[in-house]
Amino acid sequence: AQERLVADVSHELRTPLTTVQGNIDLLQRVLRSNGANPSLTPEISAILPEILNEVEDETKRMNNMIRDLLLLAQADSGVLQLKMEAVELDTLLLDVYRQSRKVAERTKGIGALEIRIGHEDQALVWGDPERLRQVLVNFTDNAIKYTPSGGTITLSLENQKNWVKVTVADTGIGIKAEDREMIFERFYRTDKARSREMGGSGLGLSIARWIAQAHNGKITVESTVGVGSTFTLWLPEYVESATATPDLQPVADQ
Ligand code: ADP
Repeated sequence: AQERLVADVSHELRTPLTTVQGNIDLLQRVLRSNGANPSLTPEISAILPEILNEVEDETKRMNNMIRDLLLLAQADSGVLQLKMEAVELDTLLLDVYRQSRKVAERTKGIGALEIRIGHEDQALVWGDPERLRQVLVNFTDNAIKYTPSGGTITLSLENQKNWVKVTVADTGIGIKAEDREMIFERFYRTDKARSREMGGSGLGLSIARWIAQAHNGKITVESTVGVGSTFTLWLPEYVESATATPDLQPVADQ
């Protein structure tokens, strides 16, 4: 019943939010074309664009939260289908790398963070490319959010026995040991992540974990407060012959 409720409520929230977003767009267009409206006081004219931007940001955030909640509701009820195919993980990682550079420039400023590729093996896995991209984008978005200017983010891909290991390492704020157990729980965010400018809902990593497990893989995290964090997605290597299934013995946590 709870799963059904989450799915229904999320779905129902979409309609009013679309109306709110539509009206923000309209107001922003009017403001842009008319400039300061003579019937408004100068004070209001001055703060109106800022207020609208803030309302828009929060609306986007709510939309993302609803999207994530709907996805988790679908995952819980077993209707979320993965579109499995052979995926060249190195190509996917390169794509995520390019995208993350743009995100870092937009959100932190040009040159604020160094984003680089470290170890770069080639690897084929059996998976849903869009969902795997979602996991890696969650890692890189978080690394960008929680790494102060001057920091470095390194994306790597390594083959290890029958596993493929994709890591996103940052030199950011790090995660306390007691939080490390919790960050995969729904809506869990550490104190530092709670401030508004960080955005985020605390749902990204629970979705990432679900996706990893649905691929017979897992996510591990290493972190030292004030030094940085490394998130790793482990996936079984794809072996093209039908008889040779990957060895799914759990790998030792790092
Ligand atoms: P959010 O949308 O809040 O980023 P996530 O589920 O992706 O949600 O992450 C959960 C929490 O884990 C974050 O709020 C943050 O406290 C912590 N976290 C995730 N990645 C990092 C990181 N690279 N460095 C520091 N803290 C992190």
